[in-house]
Amino acid sequence: MYEQVDEFIHLLQDVQRIAVLTHANPDGDAIGTGLALAHCLRALGKNPTVFAPDPFPEFLHWLPGANDIVIYKHARTKARTILDIADMIICVDFNNLSRLDGMAEYIRQLPVPRVLIDHHLKPAEDEFVLCLSKVEACSSAEVLYHIITEMGLLPSLNLSAVEALYTGMMTDTNNFRNNCNRPDTFRTVAELLEYGIDKDRLYDLVYNNYADHRMRLLGYALNEKMVVLPEYRTAYIALSRAELDRFRFQPGDTEGFVNYPLSIKNVVLSCFLSENPENIRLSFRSIGAFSVNRFSRAHFDGGGHLNAAGGTSFLPLDATVQKLIQSLAEYKDELEAV
Ligand code: MN
Repeated sequence: MYEQVDEFIHLLQDVQRIAVLTHANPDGDAIGTGLALAHCLRALGKNPTVFAPDPFPEFLHWLPGANDIVIYKHARTKARTILDIADMIICVDFNNLSRLDGMAEYIRQLPVPRVLIDHHLKPAEDEFVLCLSKVEACSSAEVLYHIITEMGLLPSLNLSAVEALYTGMMTDTNNFRNNCNRPDTFRTVAELLEYGIDKDRLYDLVYNNYADHRMRLLGYALNEKMVVLPEYRTAYIALSRAELDRFRFQPGDTEGFVNYPLSIKNVVLSCFLSENPENIRLSFRSIGAFSVNRFSRAHFDGGGHLNAAGGTSFLPLDATVQKLIQSLAEYKDELEAV
């Protein structure tokens, strides 16, 4: 990635005001990477602003700088005022402008260069002047750490920025359980620990900080809503808007639900579906060689990684579930072979 980092340094020379964008429904990696990047840009004397298309989960609000993130959905006028005078846009943790949802159209028409920092498969290269993308990295935070290293910015990192990077790595790997077989990931973690972060505290802030209604929603989802399809080695959970409302759903409350069905013996594919006002959001996890990136790209206009991907459906919830089950039929042999 040396050449791209050189190019990045070159592009940064002429810009001052930088808009850092995360994807819709932002997760710990998006927010952590965005905040750490903003810190580094400030260290370079730049003037960054971090944006998210919509609100991010409560369990990330403790991150230093999180309160300054501009939520496009809630502050459109303010967001556009800042975006209109930005010299550059840096997108973190997504690979296609469509992942900006309601913010995408406005961003597309802004006449400034766009840079990508990401780790998802197949970035939409024509949408960016530069793609700093490393698909083997566990998280965008890990990619950013390497960029920071190559840029010689490690000495400028403070505890807050390191906590943000660690949070990105921790959340995208489900606390270092998935998608982190590369020794290099743990070398990066070791280096972050050298800065004096308290990883147990960060774990508690993210994973042991839920409202009781979130736990009750999880219990309900597993007990009453999980459907196992042994013939496809698949399990899914579909929650309607009414069900989410009943448990006082807040953004982020269902984060991680998709992982639970994979604990069932012989289940190699898990899908979590939730009904939003405007669409159905699907989240996929798999074990082994079954590519949920490919599955979601083919059937649910989504993608992501080999074993973790997202998707969208504009059909009603029931019809989306039917489509899911029908689509699985095509993959029966592949699922059996995992
Ligand atoms: Mn990520």
